[in-house]
Amino acid sequence: MDALRDAAGDEGGAGAAAGGAGDTGARDTARPGDTAARDAARRRDAAVRAAVEQGLLDSEPLVCLLDTAGIRASAAALTGAFAAATAPGTPVLHAFAAKASPLVPVLRLLADCGLGCEVASAGELALARAAGIPAERIVLDSPAKTTGELREALALGITVNADNHQELERLDALIAAAPTRSPIGVRVNPQTGAGAIDALSTATATSKFGIGLRDPGARERLVRACLDRPWITRLHAHSGSQGLPLPLIARGVRELHALAEEINAAAGRRQVDTLDIGGGLPVNFASDEETPTYAEYADALREAVPALFDGSYGLVTEFGRSLLAKHGTVLARVEYTKATGGRPIALTHAGVQVATRTVYAPAAWPLRILPYDAKGLPKTGPPVAQDVAGPACFAGDLLATARDLPELAPGDLIAVPDTGAYFFTAHYGYNSLPRPPVHGFTADPPGPVRFTPVRPAQTTTEIVAESGGALRDALL
Ligand SMILES: *Cc1c(COP(=O)(O)O)cnc(C)c1O
Repeated sequence: MDALRDAAGDEGGAGAAAGGAGDTGARDTARPGDTAARDAARRRDAAVRAAVEQGLLDSEPLVCLLDTAGIRASAAALTGAFAAATAPGTPVLHAFAAKASPLVPVLRLLADCGLGCEVASAGELALARAAGIPAERIVLDSPAKTTGELREALALGITVNADNHQELERLDALIAAAPTRSPIGVRVNPQTGAGAIDALSTATATSKFGIGLRDPGARERLVRACLDRPWITRLHAHSGSQGLPLPLIARGVRELHALAEEINAAAGRRQVDTLDIGGGLPVNFASDEETPTYAEYADALREAVPALFDGSYGLVTEFGRSLLAKHGTVLARVEYTKATGGRPIALTHAGVQVATRTVYAPAAWPLRILPYDAKGLPKTGPPVAQDVAGPACFAGDLLATARDLPELAPGDLIAVPDTGAYFFTAHYGYNSLPRPPVHGFTADPPGPVRFTPVRPAQTTTEIVAESGGALRDALL
């Protein structure tokens, strides 16, 4: 029933133990992924302990941690995999999907690693600009862009991917009124089918995103729309997020490439010069191993679309989850424990506000729970099936049900790894629970773990202000 029960018992604490004296022989035979996973677990253990020792949890019962070295390593793996796959000189832009981690210092860090930014709202665009990302490295992709948003994007020169024919007609008018240097693309829906999670599958027959290619007459209409608009130079597809098998993503990219070839043949020139292949590389939530890898993804693409990397098209990618998920950890205090109906329950400060999808759709979004004691040391002990509950006032606010863990006690800590994308960065304001602080950390032995604030804790004063506090009498 609990998909991660077995995995949870082996990670974190046990990972730290494996990093000790008994581990030296195993390391020589380990695959590179194993070593990276063990290093990540070791850095996390060090950060948890340092968070306690340095008092991060003294004033807050809930903090979020970002492993700077891990983020840099993922960015390097992405750029390296595509650099190895593409013909020399091929322009490649990796635009990080801001919604996965809409934090200015994160966007800035990724820019420092050579990435750009994919945005889908005025807020995300403002974050990308605040991070100092240049316009030519920003891609705007929302399905419901207002005229104002389009006008701003065209004035800035950022790339715009239109979602539908009506948006193209808006662009006709805006471009006629004011010429732009923005590259413009069209999002297509290859209608290649769903992955394991319906809500995150964007290439279904009826997905709300892009222009469907398989509907009767749709392909011909789209080709015509492109031929009529010489300024359309890009095609975009993003088949979905988490739960998509690599061959399914690759099939969508193959459809995209075939459409570009068709348009260019009909135009008699290379009108489409860039393919934006979206993001969607799935993340392994069951252990610290980062799988599938970007290199495996590049291999899957090369197999499905051999011509993709031959240099005839520039490439844009839009990865989000796979760049950040493994590098974020929620760390929460166990406030109380009890047993009800024979079930031990740990009441913690991590719940629906930081793990919304897990709480509302636990089967699709299982998370590991790593137990630590009050000193921040991995907690060991015989497994006891426990519920790990959050602080929100509804019964379903559970991060794990009947999870085998050493019996938790008040003052213990739970770490929830793999939460660096779409979890604590997508705060849910239920019960006016505050956004917890986010700290970046570096853990390079022999030096101490160093924390740096990335996002301050939301204060109760801010909650009151954002809740109409200055408008107290407005409804009288
Ligand atoms: C969400 C999204 C992405 C990122 O998806 P990940 O699964 O986080 O890699 C990329 N492109 C578009 C258009 C998106 O909506």
